Amino acid sequence: MPKSHVAIITGAASGIGRALAVHYAGEGVRSIIGTFPGDPHDPQETLRLVRAAGGEAVVHEVDVRSTASVDAFAQRAVDEYGRLDYAVANAGILRHSSLADMTDARWTDMLDVDLTGVLRTLRAGAERMTEGGAMVAVSSIAGAVYGWEGHAHYAAAKAGVLGLIRSVAVELGPQGIRANAVIPGLIETPQSLDPVNSLGPDGLARAGKDIPWGRVGTPAEVASVIAFLTSSQAGYVTGQSLIVDGGLTVKMRA
Ligand code: NAD
Repeated sequence: MPKSHVAIITGAASGIGRALAVHYAGEGVRSIIGTFPGDPHDPQETLRLVRAAGGEAVVHEVDVRSTASVDAFAQRAVDEYGRLDYAVANAGILRHSSLADMTDARWTDMLDVDLTGVLRTLRAGAERMTEGGAMVAVSSIAGAVYGWEGHAHYAAAKAGVLGLIRSVAVELGPQGIRANAVIPGLIETPQSLDPVNSLGPDGLARAGKDIPWGRVGTPAEVASVIAFLTSSQAGYVTGQSLIVDGGLTVKMRA
């Protein structure tokens, strides 16, 4: 019987990260549920859902702005389960700022989480993958495909994630470590439901009507694609990015 795989997931107390921990539970993948204490999300609810799905996980605090914190988070996988197979850099923030209001601090604070935080997670994961492994970073159609007014820093970070993932894929391929990205479209999570920095509930409902699939996506619909990319079914896929958007970005608008 092969040993079941072990994953670290940043930002797993809510949204896409929570859905991934639950998806992994159904596949026997054990997770380190990354939770950021600065946010009100409940990591115990993720743990409850994982256990209800018959899975195994532990909760660990992580702030992706700190290398020491991310290293300790990845090390928890080794300490708890004796191995690390998958690293998922999912944590992210979204803030609204016009270019005129884009202070250096706003810019660097955003990139520290949404781009450098990804680097820290992939780096800490790679150091501990002794038998090969797989990594996924979460980008966004904002930056990867579209520009988004009021979100230049977010879009720059999310576009940067794609360059990062391609380079990491090339560098770590010889070690048997694959690296890919997912590019979610509009997914209903705490981030997109924030009416100040994102679309909010009304904006999401309106936008959903214009998506070919007829609605915005669920966190589970992104989680299953991340799980596919880390699985052996994607064993020859590396350095790629996959859009998960219900057809939003392929629809021609006059
Ligand atoms: P979310 O807000 O539920 O998840 C983001 C998670 O990141 C939260 O759990 C939060 O606590 C955590 N986080 C924030 N700052 C952190 C830090 N410094 N250290 C560690 N964790 C931190 O929203 P989500 O939509 O599930 O977001 C997951 C990822 O998906 C993000 O990278 C986001 O940018 C991306 N994304 C989301 C959408 C969407 O429509 N929801 C679209 C494209 C991309």
